[in-house]
Amino acid sequence: MHITQQNVTSTLFNKLSTHYGSQNWWPATTPFEMALGAILTQSTNWNNASKALANLEKRGLLSPSAIDEIPHGRLSIIIRPSGYYNVKATRLKAFANHICDSYGDDFESYLRRPIDVLRKELLSVKGIGKETADAIILYAGNKAIFIIDEYTKRLFSRIGQGPANEIYDHWQTFFHINVPRITEVYNEYHALIVEHCKISCNSKPKCDTCFLSGECQTGKQILSQS
Ligand code: SF4
Repeated sequence: MHITQQNVTSTLFNKLSTHYGSQNWWPATTPFEMALGAILTQSTNWNNASKALANLEKRGLLSPSAIDEIPHGRLSIIIRPSGYYNVKATRLKAFANHICDSYGDDFESYLRRPIDVLRKELLSVKGIGKETADAIILYAGNKAIFIIDEYTKRLFSRIGQGPANEIYDHWQTFFHINVPRITEVYNEYHALIVEHCKISCNSKPKCDTCFLSGECQTGKQILSQS
């Protein structure tokens, strides 16, 4: 996938896309499963979250009403592989109850509303912050909103792009201005950033083997000193 907009941020998307190929996120079958995954993956990796999701699926719990009705204690045992299982059980139940209150099991209709309405409602649920809300909107709702996470800020700060602060909304606006607002592009860009940060731009960056070192401020600086 390639985009034609001419700026550093869009060009970088094309380079990452060519280098890593299609990422095919998000690995879940229904929008509600994706949304549960967005909560379960908080403070852990996808591997652990997917084990918890598999446990929920085995027990037929992948619907808002099922999560709303199951006792908290039982749910926390089922999702134990995701870590922080007591807190996450509370969050899953708050989220499911929020959906059930107005839409029952019809999560697709819930997602069909405009991004601003959806985001405001998701953020009103205890335990759903901006990153999780935006992951639900992008991957479950299939709507173009850019997710900002630690990987995104780390990579772009090192390259020398983006706001000189940590404020979520400033970073999101930066991407909304510089990358065409296309759902498939935002979906793929987030996945590519995560992939690159896992492979090269770790907390201790592997600049000597990184294919972006020639155009990255930090990479050039580190390599000139070695
Ligand atoms: S050159 Fe280094 S700092 Fe820059 S993106 Fe690559 S790994 Fe990260």
